[in-house]
Amino acid sequence: MAVVSVSMPDELIDRLDEFATNHEYTGRSEVVREGVRILITEFENDRLERRPLAGVVSVLYDYGTTSVERRLTRLRHEHEDHVASTAHSHVGDHCMELFVIEGELEDISAFVGTVRSIEDVRTVDYTLLPLDAVDRPETS
Ligand SMILES: [Zn+2]
Repeated sequence: MAVVSVSMPDELIDRLDEFATNHEYTGRSEVVREGVRILITEFENDRLERRPLAGVVSVLYDYGTTSVERRLTRLRHEHEDHVASTAHSHVGDHCMELFVIEGELEDISAFVGTVRSIEDVRTVDYTLLPLDAVDRPETS
């Protein structure tokens, strides 16, 4: 196995070590390997590929973080073919941006991945809905 070096904030390293201990992992590397596997296979979903999808992507960041606001505005324009609407709200000490997005899985995957890579974003969540199943429920 190759050895890679990864930089991360001290607070995240503390949480990583605590997680490894609490869940009886052999160490940081095992947790990181598992996390990477989960992340890169997240959008490998045969059931949703090549189907029209709608989704809601929620982005939480600290109030007044203008670098995030600017980046999200730019992203909205870069993905204007897929972003149907946005809403901005204040929850606690945070800003929450909601994106209603439509497209295929790879479009939405690219959007979510880019949002996650923005520095100082706290959380990114999403839901997906296959539009072709709305009028005629899926049978299994
Ligand atoms: Zn705000």
